Amino acid sequence: MVLAASDLRRDIEEILPGVVADRRHFHQHPELGFQEFETSKLVAQRLQSLGVEDIRTGIAVTGVTGLIRGTKSGSGKVVLLRADMDALPIHEQNDVDYTSTIAGKMHACGHDAHTAGLLGVARLLMDRQDQFSGTVKLLFQPAEEGGGGALVMINEGVLEDPKVDAAFGLHVDQGSPLGVISLRPGPALAAADRFTAVIRGKGGHGAHPHETIDPIVVGSHVVVALQTIVSREVDPTEPAVVTVGALISGEAPNVIPNTAELRGTLRSFNPDVRVQLATRVEEITKGVAEALRAEVDFSYVKGYPATVNDPEMTALVREVAEEVVGAENVFEAPRQMGAEDFSYFLERVPGAFFFVGSQNQERGLVWGHHHPRFDLDEDMMIFGMETMVKTVLRYLND
Ligand SMILES: [Zn+2]
Ligand SMILES: [Zn+2]
Repeated sequence: MVLAASDLRRDIEEILPGVVADRRHFHQHPELGFQEFETSKLVAQRLQSLGVEDIRTGIAVTGVTGLIRGTKSGSGKVVLLRADMDALPIHEQNDVDYTSTIAGKMHACGHDAHTAGLLGVARLLMDRQDQFSGTVKLLFQPAEEGGGGALVMINEGVLEDPKVDAAFGLHVDQGSPLGVISLRPGPALAAADRFTAVIRGKGGHGAHPHETIDPIVVGSHVVVALQTIVSREVDPTEPAVVTVGALISGEAPNVIPNTAELRGTLRSFNPDVRVQLATRVEEITKGVAEALRAEVDFSYVKGYPATVNDPEMTALVREVAEEVVGAENVFEAPRQMGAEDFSYFLERVPGAFFFVGSQNQERGLVWGHHHPRFDLDEDMMIFGMETMVKTVLRYLND
């Protein structure tokens, strides 16, 4: 076991320059959700040259899957490893030799490292087919940043043929230093839904408010009333967020507009709280508006569900991570109100999603996710790849 582990680290160090080169290539050529055509083409090429079997492309527009079969006799289990490939509509402000070449698009969340890292994992597992039984399904997905590419791929059958038994994914973590891995059992990231409410009043002259129904005043009352959902209605031991991120109305100081539009996001972990937020936001918005003589067009869009890690799978990753970076560098991640579409896999199969620290103060790699100066310490891919490979071997051989 000790020998195998050090072999693995040596192999990782050997392939690292290639993995870094791939990451930089993806970084220079960012593509937005469901448009990852060049990225997925390169992914498929790499898998092909590695000898990965049953490569399928064009799933959910740009998604790719491939299989690596172990040759050891034993379990017929199938484990899915996922990387997301999409970039963000952000104009990069870093000045490095691998800066984005596309104006207004940037890998500012680390998905370039996820994709390159999973290609590295594929290579390491291809060299270890005699060390495991069962099958590894590699999955490269489009559109994590809002498009829900994971769900589209699931709807197109990626959890079948062969049927997936467990799923693992990781995320670069600029909130933690290089060399740290964190994860938590149970709900880890929130469900994120959104709503839009168009308040229809009656516009008119700002000097004659009695002849109007002022949608700005109605909208303001709605915003304040919505604050009581979390403070007065949701069980205080359950995390929840109701944020109105936009209240759009009017232009002139002396004109009362016809309408006001509210847009908001709802975050929760508990499925009952999720329903409670959706129901009460609509009821309060409509009730307040009605009391103040306005009408409401309300729409609610269900987003990603909560990301819920299976306790057993989490324990497995944790045990492996402690070997990779040392027990003193593995932490229980706090719950976060952010969301992640890996949740769709975890709704259907047990698995775990973990965070790999990538911040490096000395090198100035301190900017957070979705910041125009976001960048990561590429050595995080060493720990990410090692944890993934060892988790797979242990899961399939157990
Ligand atoms: Zn992101
Ligand atoms: Zn991300």
